Amino acid sequence: MEFDLIARIRARAASRPDVELGIGDDAAIVRVPDGLRLVLATDTLNAGVHFPAGTVPADIGWKALAVNLSDLAAMAAEPAWCTLSLSLPQADAAWLDGFLDGFLDLAARHGVALVGGDTTRGPLSVCVTAHGLVAPGRALRRGGAMAGDEVWVTGTLGDAAAALALAGTGAAAAAGPQAARELRRRLDRPEPRVGAGRALAGLASACIDVSDGLLADLGHVCAAGGVGAEVALDALPASAALIALFPQRARRALQARGGDDYELCFTAPVSRRAAIADALAGAGVAATRIGAIVAGDRVRALDAAGAEWVADRAGYQHFEG
Ligand code: ADP
Ligand code: MG
Repeated sequence: MEFDLIARIRARAASRPDVELGIGDDAAIVRVPDGLRLVLATDTLNAGVHFPAGTVPADIGWKALAVNLSDLAAMAAEPAWCTLSLSLPQADAAWLDGFLDGFLDLAARHGVALVGGDTTRGPLSVCVTAHGLVAPGRALRRGGAMAGDEVWVTGTLGDAAAALALAGTGAAAAAGPQAARELRRRLDRPEPRVGAGRALAGLASACIDVSDGLLADLGHVCAAGGVGAEVALDALPASAALIALFPQRARRALQARGGDDYELCFTAPVSRRAAIADALAGAGVAATRIGAIVAGDRVRALDAAGAEWVADRAGYQHFEG
C-alpha cells in the first residue's frame, strides 16, 4: 500500500534547484548555501487533538505544514525544504489526494520543496519537519526581551479558539454563518507569518509564535529572558468576526488564552516602533502593541482599570489533568 501512496506524493511534490536528491532514495540531499545557517523545526498533528474529527483532509494538510512554517517564521528563517511522516489507518488514495491539495498549496506559496518522509499504517497522525535558512546571528530567539521593551503581536487573536468553542454547538450557524466561517478558516488554515518574521530580524529583541495561547507563549519569552510582562487586555487585537460573535468577557479569554493563533508575539525597544511599523507594512502584516516588558518573572494581563485579570488556565497543555 505504502508504495502506491509514496508514488502519488512523489508525482505531485514540486522540487527546487537546490534539491540534489528528493523523494525516492534512502535520504534526501539538499544544497545549503555557504554562509547561511540551517534552521529545523518539527511538529506533529494528531487526529482529535490538533484538529477536530471531521476536519477535511486538505485543511489537515495545510495546517500540518503551516504550524511548522510558523515555527520557522518565529526564528526569522526562510523556509526551504520539508519532510512528511504520515501515519494512516488505511491506504486511502482519495484522502491522500485531498491532504496533498492543502499541503502542497501552502508549500508552493512559500517555495518549499517536499523532499522525503515516511508512510506507515496506524492512527491518523501527521509529522512534518521544516528546514529553513537564516544568516548567522540573524535568527530571532525567545530570549532577549529587556525591561522597557514593548510587546507586540501580529494579526488578531482568539479566532481559532473561538471556532473550536463553536464547533458542534450549532451556535455557529445561529450566530451568523459568514462570521463563523471566517473563524473556522483561522482554525483550519492558519497563515504562517513568514514574511513578518523575516522583516523583524534585526528589529525584534525576542520572538515566539503563538500556538498555545498568548499569555502562555509570552510566558516562555519572559522565562527565556528573565523578565516579566504586562499586557493590556483592551489592546489585544480582535477580528470583526470575533467581535460579532462573542461578548467582551468571552472574547478576552479566547484572545489571552486560546490556542492555535499562529501569530507572532515579539518584543522590541520603544525606539524601534516606527521601523517595525514600516517593516511589517512592507510584509503586508498588521501588528499591535499590547504591553510592555517589566522587571520580575510574571506575565500579568490588566483590564482598563489596571486590575489584574486572572485566567483559570494559562493555555492549552497536552498532559494536563
Ligand atoms: P525506506 O524504507 O528506505 O525508509 P521508504 O519506502 O520509507 O524508504 O521511502 C521511500 C522514499 O519515499 C524515501 O525517499 C522517502 O523519503 C520517501 N517518502 C516516504 N513517505 C513519504 C511521504 N509521506 N512524503 C514524502 N516522501 C516520502
Ligand atoms: Mg522509511
